[in-house]
Amino acid sequence: MQSCEVAIVGSGFAGSLLARVLAVLGYDVVLLERGTHPRFAIGESSTPLANLSLERLGVRYGLADCYHLATHGRWLAHFPQLRRGLKRGFTFYRHHPDQPFANRGLDSERLLVAASPHDSLSDTHWLRADVDHHFVRQAIAADVDYRDRVDLANADVASDSVRVSGSRAGTMFELRANFLIDASGPGGFLARQLSIPSGLEHTETRSALVFSHFDGVRLMKDVAPGMPEGPYPDDWAAVHHLIDEGWMYSLRFDDGVTSAGFLLTPRGTAALNLPDAADAALLWRVLLQRYPTLASAFAEATPLMPLAFRPAIQHRLKRATGERWGLMPHAYAFVDPLFSTGIAWSLRAVERLALAFESAAHHRRVPDLEVLTLYDAMLAAEADQIDLVVAGAYEAMTHFDLFAAHAMLYFATVSFAEASQRLAPEESVAWKGFLGVGDSVLEPLPRESLRRLRQITRRRGDIGTSDERRRFAEWVTHAISPRNIAGLARPERRNLYPVDFDALIEQHQLLGMSRDQLVEVLPALRGALPNAGDHASLTEGSVRLNLPSWMPAG
Ligand SMILES: Cc1cc2nc3c(=O)[nH]c(=O)nc-3n(C[C@H](O)[C@H](O)[C@H](O)COP(=O)(O)OP(=O)(O)OC[C@H]3O[C@@H](n4cnc5c(N)ncnc54)[C@H](O)[C@@H]3O)c2cc1C
Repeated sequence: MQSCEVAIVGSGFAGSLLARVLAVLGYDVVLLERGTHPRFAIGESSTPLANLSLERLGVRYGLADCYHLATHGRWLAHFPQLRRGLKRGFTFYRHHPDQPFANRGLDSERLLVAASPHDSLSDTHWLRADVDHHFVRQAIAADVDYRDRVDLANADVASDSVRVSGSRAGTMFELRANFLIDASGPGGFLARQLSIPSGLEHTETRSALVFSHFDGVRLMKDVAPGMPEGPYPDDWAAVHHLIDEGWMYSLRFDDGVTSAGFLLTPRGTAALNLPDAADAALLWRVLLQRYPTLASAFAEATPLMPLAFRPAIQHRLKRATGERWGLMPHAYAFVDPLFSTGIAWSLRAVERLALAFESAAHHRRVPDLEVLTLYDAMLAAEADQIDLVVAGAYEAMTHFDLFAAHAMLYFATVSFAEASQRLAPEESVAWKGFLGVGDSVLEPLPRESLRRLRQITRRRGDIGTSDERRRFAEWVTHAISPRNIAGLARPERRNLYPVDFDALIEQHQLLGMSRDQLVEVLPALRGALPNAGDHASLTEGSVRLNLPSWMPAG
């Protein structure tokens, strides 16, 4: 029987990156994949927090590609062959059945929140076929023993090791590992092997999905022209179209391909009253017909692969670790793509497990039980938190004012995390809670928001009175104020939020810094701007810049 120190099941980016980091730390790692690369994968839109994790992994473990892939500009300069899309922020529109999207100028049901001050520092959509393939190749180059097309039959967990057995190309194999990591995503390899109970009853969100990749999707600026200029071009973002039945995501890659899918609530699907709700092509057609502006956007579009339908995309387990095993977040829980939390959460877990193995490198060679218990508890709390933020958003979709107000909870939380992590980096940052977990101000807010929203909607999709909606927005503004460093929830912004560097300086005390301290950090940040020059204003050099000194700019 072969043996290794760490076996990882699943070579999505999370499994491959962790495998590679552990190999860099001197571990003997086997990475097992049931398919082959390149292959299609869903989950494409990254965020500033995801990119911070990538940068930290790059810097800590000397993985220059991770660092370069963390901004659109560096990605283009270093990996132009890996397909990606420019993501300047989060764009939301509310559509109503049988009516074109109403361009009412600054009163439109439209929300734009910039995540980056300009293109070169921006986030990206990852064409996962290319990106995941890249990370696998890098893992192999780092001496990870990668085996694809494996069919795993069994995992036996003992107190000192795990045995995995299966076959590859018709040949049986057995592998003994000191530790097993399940990065198989919703494949749920260990969940089945260890009969880990489902915790789905804790998850509030329920949604179905119909999706594909398309050629020929028209831009919103062309099908709903003349909207007032926002902080970035509307379409170069994670675009969210809110509809009565749920919402649609639309992510445009730089080569013009668009990843799009509808997420549908059970009530929304039932209301469509289709003879076969699982008929993806029919569902797609019916939804486009109901929303004329979306129909225009997709009028000439052709799917690049058959439309696919998944009746329920949520999963959740009750345990994420044991003495000899651990789950990556996507194997443990998934809620919904709303707010693009998956990549960032997965990368945070890569950081945590990498640190756990780093600490163990000179003695036990497997993470301490105490650390694994902490990892388990954090994933549980974070999965709950993601669910509450998303469940609140679904509840709020009944009226755009409610939605725009609730969304501020998410944006305040992530912008505060991003600014604190960039401006005052700490060694232990990877162990900070995701999405406000562990923050006495932020942690309770999603639950409270959901409660208040349900009072307004009465769980029936009511829109409430204008007074109720105004009071809800006021509550959000007040609740986030101790963490609102990004100038959010300001009516005078008319739902168009740029990266607001002045607000950051104004709110210096919220980050525990004096105004002078904060201002002092800025020239250094600005100086580190790649190709600093024409575009390098103080505002642009804000919270997105912190190049490591060993890494040449650009
Ligand atoms: C509709 C949808 C949209 C999403 N959109 C976003 C988004 O915009 N932004 C975002 O941040 N996140 C998004 N996510 C979440 C994102 O997809 C996940 O966070 C991400 O894919 C996690 O990566 P991973 O490497 O852990 O797992 P995966 O990408 O799921 O990879 C798992 C790998 O394991 C392999 N595998 C499975 N079973 C076995 C087995 N038994 N043996 C061996 N190998 C196996 C699979 O072949 C695959 O290669 C979305 C998810 C969904 C469902």
